[in-house]
Parts: sequence; C-alpha cells; structure tokens
Amino acid sequence: MIPIQEAQQIVKDNLPQRQVEQIALADALGRLLTEDIYAAEPSPRYSNSAMDGFAVRWEDVQSATESNPVRLKIVGESRAGVPFTHRLQSGQAIRINTGAMICDGADTVIPIEDSEDNENTLRIKTVKKSQQHLRFEGEEFGKGALLLKQGTILNPARLALLASQGIASVRTYRKPGISVIVTGTELVRFYEPAKPWQIRDSNGLMLSASVQQSKGNILLSVQVGDDYEKTVSAINTALGDSQIILFSGGISVGEHDLVKNAAEECGFETLFWRVSQKPGKPLFFARKGETLFFGLPGNPVSAYVCYRFYVHPVIRYLTGEKFEHPTLQGKLAKSVRNDSERTNLLRVAIEPNGHQRPAIHPLSKQGSHMISSISDAHGFLIVEPGNEFKEGELVEVIIFAD
Ligand code: AMP
Ligand code: MG
Repeated sequence: MIPIQEAQQIVKDNLPQRQVEQIALADALGRLLTEDIYAAEPSPRYSNSAMDGFAVRWEDVQSATESNPVRLKIVGESRAGVPFTHRLQSGQAIRINTGAMICDGADTVIPIEDSEDNENTLRIKTVKKSQQHLRFEGEEFGKGALLLKQGTILNPARLALLASQGIASVRTYRKPGISVIVTGTELVRFYEPAKPWQIRDSNGLMLSASVQQSKGNILLSVQVGDDYEKTVSAINTALGDSQIILFSGGISVGEHDLVKNAAEECGFETLFWRVSQKPGKPLFFARKGETLFFGLPGNPVSAYVCYRFYVHPVIRYLTGEKFEHPTLQGKLAKSVRNDSERTNLLRVAIEPNGHQRPAIHPLSKQGSHMISSISDAHGFLIVEPGNEFKEGELVEVIIFAD
C-alpha cells in the first residue's frame, strides 16, 4: 500500500503523449488550440458603411448647412451583398446600407436622418466630418495579425472569429480514447429488472458521463461478469485504440477479483496496487506502452472519488490542459478528524455564502457503499491520518464538477 501522494506522482510520471489532430471547425467547440492562429484576411474585409444612408464625396458636401443645403443626384445603390460597381462622380450619391461596400470615389456616409431624398435627388443639410460613418478595411486587424494564441480553448465566439476568416479546420489536441469495462457477475443493466441478489450497474453510466465531462472520447463501454477469459478478451479489444482503459470492480483481494491478473496477462506492467486512502484502497494502476490502465474499485463511491482524483487530471492533461485538480476554498462548517491510518477523501457539500467564502459541510454519510454521499457532495477534502481541521478553518476542497 502506498500513500496518495506517491500514487499521484506515479500517475504523473506515466502520462501518455498528447496527440494532435486537425479537425473541422464545427467539431472544435471546447477544444484547445495547439498553435497560434493568424488572420488570413483583414477585418473588415472591405471598407463599408456603418449606417443606412448615402455614400457621397466629401468635396461635394463639406459646405452643406441648414440654410444652404447641397443637392446631389442619386445614381444607384450599394446593398449588403450587391455592391455598386461604378466610380462615384462629382455631384453624385448612392444609397447605401449598413455593412454594404463603399464604392470608388465615395469617402463619406450621410445617415438617412441627416438627409432628404425625393426621387433621384438628395438634399443634405448637415455633415460633420470627412470619412464619417465608414468602417475601413483592416481597421480591426490586418492580414497576419495574431488572432488566437496556442492554448486557447475554443468557445462559440472564437469559433465565430475563425469562421469569419474562412478558417475551416484547426489543429487541436485529440480527445483521448477511453474504454470503460465494468465487471461483476452480480450486475444487471440499470434499465433491466434486478433480482433481489443483483446490483444495477451504475458505474458504467457514471464513468462514461465522467469521461464526457473530462472531454475524453468513449470508444468502448462493456460489462463482463467475473470471468477471466472474458475479462482478458475485453482488455484485448480495448487495447486497440485506447489511451486509457478504465475498469470498475474486480480489483480487491477476493477470489473473484481477476482484473489485475488479466491486465498482467495482456502485457500491462503494474505500477501500483492499493493506496492508503479511504475510500478507494484497492485502486490498481498499470501501463502498457502508451495505454494506461486504471482498475477502480467497484463501490460507486470509491469508483467516483478515484476517477476524480486520479483519472480526471490525466484526461485533462491529454486534451492539452494542466495536470491539476479544480479546487475551491471555503470555511469548514464542522470540525473533522481522521483517526484512521489511511488518508480520508472526505466528501463535502459546498454552500455558497454571497460574497463571503462558501461554507464547507462534511457529509454525515461517508460509507463507501452509500451512493448519496457522492450525489450530495460537491467535492472532497483530503484529511491525512492524525490530522484535524477545526470548524471555521479555511480549507481547500477538490471539486467534482468544473
Ligand atoms: P468489487 O470492487 O468488484 O468487489 O465491488 C465492490 C462493491 O461494489 C460490490 O458490492 C459490488 O456489487 C458493487 N459494484 C461493483 N460494480 C458495480 C457497478 N458497476 N455498479 C454499482 N455497484 C457496483
Ligand atoms: Mg466485483
């Protein structure tokens, strides 16, 4: 049995290589860029009007006043998507819409509100300055400007920025391929009737959902009984493309706990088995080439806490982020003490408290078979053997959701 810090370090020392891929922009939400992206074009792409009104020549209109309006001939129109293709001559104006391309010769826009038009004649009584109400090509950024830095996570707005540039695909870290294999002869699928001695498989769904939250890619999700041959065969199937194989159950010391031997038979090297922690003591970790193997205990509470503590940071690392836990600080609502010999990963609920630090409530039901201890929890507090945290103390909690 090893301490949790050593187990974490072994996981950290065995991270697989991140993989890079080029993907379509439409699939890139939430993905992390592996390269800087530069503007392919200036923005705006062409000089255009910021108002609905008329495009004119400054020389023609600069003298306009209430008492002495300027008259121009309206010779055409530039609409969004349909430009005016001639050069504007002295004494002429064109109608123009917001966003429509300015034509050659025009250098100023008169808003509708500052003009009167009748048939093909325009009267302008006021104009403030040359080049007013124009948006110039490249005024936001020029071709070649740095748009997004390596490491940026693509959100809808950043996808829009790339789309506006005609950038149709990006290089990002590949979502790691994960296989989930759930063991236990007592298990039935959660949506099927369960006999009194059977257990509904809740870990399969919990692990698949967790992998989605961590931004991994589920390649395989299967259930096998406590059967050595089937376990070996499931591991061999998973080995193909998986960067991580996640097992639930079958990792304790009972005679039906076959997972460790099956992993070794399939060529995995055991890196640790059993960690001095509560819950999750039987945790098993192995590696074969670029594939990691986590044997999580079958108890739903142990499986969930071990997933969050050991597996989640690995998946986040492979998607390009740091290997770290999301944490939050708060004030402990009730003193806690660990009199056992193992590190306690104590489930807590977090209660927001306005602008003050949130309150951290240790949950009363901590049994590793008590599934409500994870559904009611927002995170867990690490309490080392012999340690105590007092009520009111500021503590740092590893949070489940992020
Ligand atoms: P194991 O680690 O295989 O010894 O399982 C420990 C406990 O967790 C047993 O009581 C199992 O019935 C329960 N268990 C194992 N796998 C699952 C699962 N997939 N869903 C819910 N409970 C499970
Ligand atoms: Mg079992």
